[in-house]
Amino acid sequence: MRKLLLLAALLVWQPLLAGETRAIVGAALVDVIEGRVIPDAVVVIRDGRITAAGSAADTPVPEDAERIELEGRWLIPGLMNMHVHLGLILPGLMAAEHATESDAQLVLRMADNARQSLHSGVTTIRQPGDRRHADIALARAIDRGVLPGPRIVSSGEMINITGGHGASMGTHFDGPYEIRKAARLQVRAGAQWLKIAISGGIATPVGGIGQGLMTPDEISAVVDIAERHGIKVTAHSGSDHATREAVELGIHGVEHGYFLQRPTLRLMSERGTWYVPTIVVSQPATFDFFERIGSPPWYMARVYEVGQDHWRALEMAVEEGVNIALGTDQFPYEPNDGTTATVREAEYYVEAGMTPLQALRSATLESARMLGMEDSIGSLSPGKHADIVAIEGDPLADISALRSIGFVMKGGQVYRHDWE
Ligand SMILES: [Zn+2]
Repeated sequence: MRKLLLLAALLVWQPLLAGETRAIVGAALVDVIEGRVIPDAVVVIRDGRITAAGSAADTPVPEDAERIELEGRWLIPGLMNMHVHLGLILPGLMAAEHATESDAQLVLRMADNARQSLHSGVTTIRQPGDRRHADIALARAIDRGVLPGPRIVSSGEMINITGGHGASMGTHFDGPYEIRKAARLQVRAGAQWLKIAISGGIATPVGGIGQGLMTPDEISAVVDIAERHGIKVTAHSGSDHATREAVELGIHGVEHGYFLQRPTLRLMSERGTWYVPTIVVSQPATFDFFERIGSPPWYMARVYEVGQDHWRALEMAVEEGVNIALGTDQFPYEPNDGTTATVREAEYYVEAGMTPLQALRSATLESARMLGMEDSIGSLSPGKHADIVAIEGDPLADISALRSIGFVMKGGQVYRHDWE
């Protein structure tokens, strides 16, 4: 019944009209920039942007504002998940189920995943590689307000080499000339990042996860094209050696980093290279998920192979002060350990040594910084998009307060309100 009501609510949502003003009153505001909580705050929203935010004592509510009462809740910036494939297909039963998926079916499945992601409190995602550019079409439909979903920053298709990670994608490029072509094809399709696979991965049965499979001339070719277009490159990498090489060649981000060692993490810290851990993919809380999607034995063997080293890499990355942006490589809303993958990922960051504030920043402000969008999203500051989530506890005291998300606003539009 509740699901039906939510569905109905989503079908009838009306875009915020130009000049319309809303004010959220009664809640505490979590200021992720200053690292403090403002009790009894007011947030004023006009034309989808925050125009004022502060304590009720010195933030007047405009007379014409539609009031949204959220007494006893905490307001945080909309969550951001920097490693999402809305078209994700993993080996096993899941792959069998989608074996004959057409482009039309793919884009509908992705649209549904986008809606559920937004509903779970995630208002911005980065897609580091998806299928047949459906992600870029979807991003544009969401931007136009045609479909509900998070803001999407996309890298088009992942650039794979023959025998490397991503074999199921069907496209492979070898040598710097082919790789340049592949990079340019993504830019032409509308990619705002580029994603390369420089080592093997869990989900591809060939290619060592710890081995550097893409060559320096291939990596440099991608970095060159990205720089000419003013965009960034991130690398799927499980390998310490490959990561070190790619960081030295100028890549901007590293995904997973299963076998990263301290000197490489120190180099990343010095260079300001971003790390998106996706720690959930190798940790026990996710084993139920693998069972649910029928992951084959070879897949689970690769998960077990990386689990402990991956955890240690995350702990060392926190110790070394590496820039960390939250990402899951699971659907943001995917059930995980009684919550969602996004929230479980943030909890793992605290278990690995972050303070709750640091973990919340990874999921908001730091992700915005990684995207170069910190002027428009990532905190509840005047001038930014009104991407606002409400929860039932103080996340700076306990990151698990994120489990209680009950209100989601994006661009001033309410997409979920469980307490009405
Ligand atoms: Zn991925």
